[in-house]
Amino acid sequence: MEYREALFYNQLQNKEVECILCPHNCKLKTNEKGKCGVRKNIEGKLFSECYGNIAALGVDNIESRSLYHFYPGSNVMAIGTNGCNLRCSFCQNQHLSQNTNQIFYSRKLTPDEISELALRHVKNIGVAFTYNEPTIFYEFLKESAQIIHDKGLKNVMITNGFINSDPLLDIIDTIDAFCVSIKGFSDQFYQNEINESQLQPVLDTIKRIYESGKHLEVIVLLTPKSYDKKEEFVKLVDWIADEINADIPLHIHRFYPNLLVDSAPTSLEILEEFRQLAIERLNFVYLSNIEKTERSNTVCPDCMQLNVDRSNEYTRITGLTEDGKCSNCNRKIMKNLEVEEESENRFHQSSYGEH
Ligand code: SF4
Repeated sequence: MEYREALFYNQLQNKEVECILCPHNCKLKTNEKGKCGVRKNIEGKLFSECYGNIAALGVDNIESRSLYHFYPGSNVMAIGTNGCNLRCSFCQNQHLSQNTNQIFYSRKLTPDEISELALRHVKNIGVAFTYNEPTIFYEFLKESAQIIHDKGLKNVMITNGFINSDPLLDIIDTIDAFCVSIKGFSDQFYQNEINESQLQPVLDTIKRIYESGKHLEVIVLLTPKSYDKKEEFVKLVDWIADEINADIPLHIHRFYPNLLVDSAPTSLEILEEFRQLAIERLNFVYLSNIEKTERSNTVCPDCMQLNVDRSNEYTRITGLTEDGKCSNCNRKIMKNLEVEEESENRFHQSSYGEH
């Protein structure tokens, strides 16, 4: 296993270290690992255990990464490693995120090799850092993102937002788009269900990303633990509308049972109830992790013209101008797109190596 010295940590007395990458700010004695399970104190220095250990890699439609307003219909190459700084009791990806006793990976790749792979794929806009939490493979993320950016490709980060301000701001120039996942709608939920974490740092991250001008979308996972939290959900929606922007796309993601939680999938009725609450304040609300329907389409909130059709197997840009305005009423819908003659693409066009 290759160890890479970590960025963002402090050396303390008696060979202790303090990791300051995420708000857990773990203090570690020698040979101890942080809550993420992949950052370890070795003789008074902090090391990443997952640098370049690619556990999942696939090329998919950008929509499958929960980015609907960022080059719709394009492809993006997704990569991930092991570990996560959150421990959600309902994790949908626990085989990668919570399996850190034995670090596994399917291939070892350098940042250069990642960028070369990304360049080889047709209609591929760049690389999505996803599957597990990219913050915990920060050193690899940072080096890769710089090279990918320098080669003219896009970087996107699908993140739980639980990252401290300095490391976020240190990479933000090289990341083009973020999708931030909100796991629950209150601090209490993060305390009880997610290894003593807090919601506020996630909201701070969302605000910082928005203020940086980078593309931002937000996703919430509706699990059985959140069905009775409608008031908290409404507060969250209000916060996005009032403190960020009512045009930020919100994805309401369907839960499916897994090894950790053996409950029925979120019903379509519950998804629709929450969607109705969200569209009271937000202009672009999507249901995701369900079969594509008209609920996956982008529709102009002013004139109701269909802008992007995702209701079938293909993403089709049907009603946008080249600069991302509604072709009927000229309202701004999105800024990152390439409208081509045949601007359509299959969902999940290809995928390989994904566990
Ligand atoms: S990144 Fe890992 S080691 Fe660092 S503070 Fe977060 S959980 Fe702790």
